[in-house]
Amino acid sequence: MSETPAAANFIKNIITEDVANGKNSGNVITRFPPEPNGYLHLGHVKSICLNFGMAETFNGYCNLRFDDTNPEKEDAEYMDAIKQDVKWLGFTWKDAHHASDYFPQLLDFAYQLIDKGLAYVDSQDGETIREQRGTLTEPGINSPYRERSVTENREIFDAMVAGDYDDGAHVLRAKIDMTSPNINLRDPVIYRIRHHAHFHAGDQWKVYPMYDYTHCLSDMIEGITHSLCTLEFENNRPLYDWVLDALETPCHPQQIEFSRLNLEYTVLSKRRLIQLVQEGHVDGWDDPRMPTIVGMRRRGITPRALREFCRSIGISKSDGTVAMSHFESIIRDDLNQHATRRMAVLQPLKVTITTLDPSYEQTLSLPNHPQNPNLGTREVPFGNTLYIEQDDYSDEPPRKWKRLAQGQAVRLRGSYVITCDEVIRDDQGKVIELKCSHDPDTLGKNPEGYKPNGVIHWVSAAHALDAEIRQYGLLFNQANPMAAEHFIDTLNTDSLETLHSAKVEPAAREEVGTVYQFERQGYYAIDPDSDTSHLVFNRTVALRDSWK
Ligand code: ATP
Ligand code: MG
Repeated sequence: MSETPAAANFIKNIITEDVANGKNSGNVITRFPPEPNGYLHLGHVKSICLNFGMAETFNGYCNLRFDDTNPEKEDAEYMDAIKQDVKWLGFTWKDAHHASDYFPQLLDFAYQLIDKGLAYVDSQDGETIREQRGTLTEPGINSPYRERSVTENREIFDAMVAGDYDDGAHVLRAKIDMTSPNINLRDPVIYRIRHHAHFHAGDQWKVYPMYDYTHCLSDMIEGITHSLCTLEFENNRPLYDWVLDALETPCHPQQIEFSRLNLEYTVLSKRRLIQLVQEGHVDGWDDPRMPTIVGMRRRGITPRALREFCRSIGISKSDGTVAMSHFESIIRDDLNQHATRRMAVLQPLKVTITTLDPSYEQTLSLPNHPQNPNLGTREVPFGNTLYIEQDDYSDEPPRKWKRLAQGQAVRLRGSYVITCDEVIRDDQGKVIELKCSHDPDTLGKNPEGYKPNGVIHWVSAAHALDAEIRQYGLLFNQANPMAAEHFIDTLNTDSLETLHSAKVEPAAREEVGTVYQFERQGYYAIDPDSDTSHLVFNRTVALRDSWK
């Protein structure tokens, strides 16, 4: 799976045409504009890949812009995490900006709108203003303050800016059209009073600009050529354009909407993800079950796989939900190609090889990858006491059983063929040990006429490392949690199964974040909870598609 350039899509076509026509002098400048009010999730990855991808494709650049106009919800912790996440995905922004850095200019533009008679101070309370907006079928009603004079508007707005009024006492509204069929154009509020310090701009601001007003002007200030956003902003585009037209700005970025990413069995909305964290349904933003970038990283999903996923789903205007099986297959393909192989026994069963001395030791050199010799080899210790998977032995083997059973032979991966001669049980009859004999002529090859049953994985008991294995399932038990009355009710209560007594081969101990294929099991990433005496692995994805 090699990385392919951005696939054809309608946005790429628009930009291609713009460049061909010399629009914006042929420049392509995009931005990724997260609000620092939570951690980035898979939906943002789609937007990041698109914005940075288009800039790259057309030799332009992409800015990172913190859309920070809500001081109550935003935080430097989120901002730092967003920067790290974008970098980790492999993208480099040209400049990192804050919408809040533009507050002085935005204020200046607000005065310009007042002076042009295109903005006014409304002194009604929020609820009244909402009621007067009308509905989809009914026009809105003009505010009694709509015809205030420029002088009066300026005076009150000055006092709002100076902090003379309490929150909610007045707002500044654009004067557009209360009868417009587009509700966004019914004199939208563009400034509100908030006595709340801002994590980036400090405590100097008592009024804060609204999103719609801020976004288009920030794009304009940065000279963004194509402002790519999700479809829910389609009805805001006339307002975006109105503000820029009203202010006769030197450039006018083009807003283009594309459909949001939705993925089965999860939620892609910061608001919902915050709830999962705050109510303790998951173990923080980086819980490997979370669709956040930090969660997916901890789970072992690579940036390469995420970029490939976004390439594979494409960009369009049609809403849809991507199947979890597709997401997982991309992760699996990526790791199959790049993850080194290790052996790990999740539920150990002791095997003693009676034909070898207890002091016997051998070091096997096994390839790290079956197809890619460039990934090298590793040393795997072998001795007379091993662990195999409990599931790899059966008292009553079904027909064509390819593993161990009394009297049956099996190959140990990369080692000898062994035959099970005797089964040891505890008082309850539970199998606790297998006594086996090995065939010394079978190391790495099958002797003439010899047809072993199957191949199983194993670890040497004397050398194995203890490990905790976290097996993750789906976070929700319904494909579309948002279709439920309360999405929380559709949480999968069995989304984590922890195995405490796993045994892994000694080479399964590299740096935190390393992902291995545990042979015959799946892909597993070393969790940051690991320490020298305790290894912890997260299952990234199972080896086989369980969806079929
Ligand atoms: P959320 O609903 O999760 O809070 P948001 O749109 O409010 O998302 P922002 O921080 O404003 O989050 O988003 C930054 C950019 O990421 C925006 O351009 C937004 O359109 C885009 N984005 C957010 N969610 C998705 C998604 N699911 N699919 C594609 N793009 C998305
Ligand atoms: Mg938002």
